[in-house]
Amino acid sequence: MEETIVLYPSPGMGHLVSMVELAKLFTRQGFKVIILIVPPSYHTSTAPFITTVSASNPSITFHHLPKIDLPPDSVPSPHHEALQFELIRLHIPNLTRALHSISSNPSTSVRAFIADFFCSTSIDVAAHLNIPFYFFFTSGAAVLATLLYLTTLHESTTLSFRELGKTPLDIPGLPPLPAIDMPLPTLDRDDPAYEGFLYFSHQLPKAKGVILNSFESLEPRALKSISDGLHVPNAPPVPVHCIGPLIMSEKRGGGGGDDCLKWLDVQPEKSVVFLCFGSLGLFSAGQLREIALGLERSGHRFLWVVRSPPLTAEQSKLVSATPEPDLDALLPPGFVERTKERGLVVKSWAPQAAVLSHGSVGGFVTHCGWNSVLEAICGGVPMVAWPLYAEQRMNRVFLVEEMKLAIPIDGFDRGIVGAMEVERRVRQLMSDDGGLRERVLRAKHEAMAALSKGGSSNSVLINAWKNN
Ligand code: UDP
Repeated sequence: MEETIVLYPSPGMGHLVSMVELAKLFTRQGFKVIILIVPPSYHTSTAPFITTVSASNPSITFHHLPKIDLPPDSVPSPHHEALQFELIRLHIPNLTRALHSISSNPSTSVRAFIADFFCSTSIDVAAHLNIPFYFFFTSGAAVLATLLYLTTLHESTTLSFRELGKTPLDIPGLPPLPAIDMPLPTLDRDDPAYEGFLYFSHQLPKAKGVILNSFESLEPRALKSISDGLHVPNAPPVPVHCIGPLIMSEKRGGGGGDDCLKWLDVQPEKSVVFLCFGSLGLFSAGQLREIALGLERSGHRFLWVVRSPPLTAEQSKLVSATPEPDLDALLPPGFVERTKERGLVVKSWAPQAAVLSHGSVGGFVTHCGWNSVLEAICGGVPMVAWPLYAEQRMNRVFLVEEMKLAIPIDGFDRGIVGAMEVERRVRQLMSDDGGLRERVLRAKHEAMAALSKGGSSNSVLINAWKNN
């Protein structure tokens, strides 16, 4: 019998990357892993990534569910998350067939079904087939605590978080959180995306556990509040299993990847500030110009990933790539030429995890996506927090106020951030006053300790599956 784990990531690249890392962790323990893929309906293809992973990991198999076309306007929401929830709901019959066929194979013993939090409608499918169900949560413990508490927050008011504005929310285990900093798709309670998150909040306590890409010493207060069961009244605490930090080991090319690593090789140690804003972060042309001027005036070396601005408002809903940027048209006249001795602009994509672990990188201006945060910690790189979408405003609060691993950028929530603020924060980041670098290095060592044999992220749960 092959001991098998079935993974169900949400569609698109975003969460697939960390699911694949989770799969590798299981294969190292001798499990076979089947990853169920929802074919992209409205976002960038995952095919090249899947081909690379399959070629180098024979114990990981990808099973593609049939394609369902879901036009972006079929869900009345400006948020792509609403489309994700709907697509996963439409796939329930396909998932049921696939999981039934896998689990009825006599040579396979399915030890667990692990779904992304967008896939919470799949919990009943697993229950029906008697397969233990776990969530894989791709953000941190603080966000998990917040979503566990969402049902309570929902019942405590009739107002949307957007209407509550800066009113602080009192969530057990977290610093006071302005309501407006809740995840972007949850700000309006009439939005289908909000309903999807609320449904997840209801489903969470039904799972056998949550596998979390974090580690204990990074978020002790939030983790303790979850294990004390402070977020869901009259229910036992949801078991949380930290397995992080799991960061991308697959080296993806494209966007001048190798060139920028070669460029970093010849820069002085910790001298370069890296600017990169996730897989979806886009800025207006005006904002790009302010960043360019701020970088130039700061006098520091920089590596900057630049994308084309969004073409239309609708594009925020389409998780697809914009065209290659025309740097001459987008950046201030002469910028690339004037800064060529100390700066490199990369179009659209850089191999971020490799960049952040390079010795020449001394600072990171980030959109605060959770994978980016973990990659920065693993590289020992201090951050400037510039949130853009999803749950990044929450991550900013925790990074700046609780973990103290980042400095904030002012004005990210008031239109364009000016060149002066960019210059000021880059200088502050690279001057390393206030012990920021020291704290990040401490977090890096704690992360390594958590992953080492006997460490707090060292797979107690997985061992239990093996021995049962
Ligand atoms: N990433 C990358 N190069 C880029 C932009 C992003 O390699 O130019 C990777 C990054 O290393 C991370 C992931 O894409 O692993 C982004 O995940 P995160 O959770 O930080 O943000 P999201 O894209 O989900 O908003």
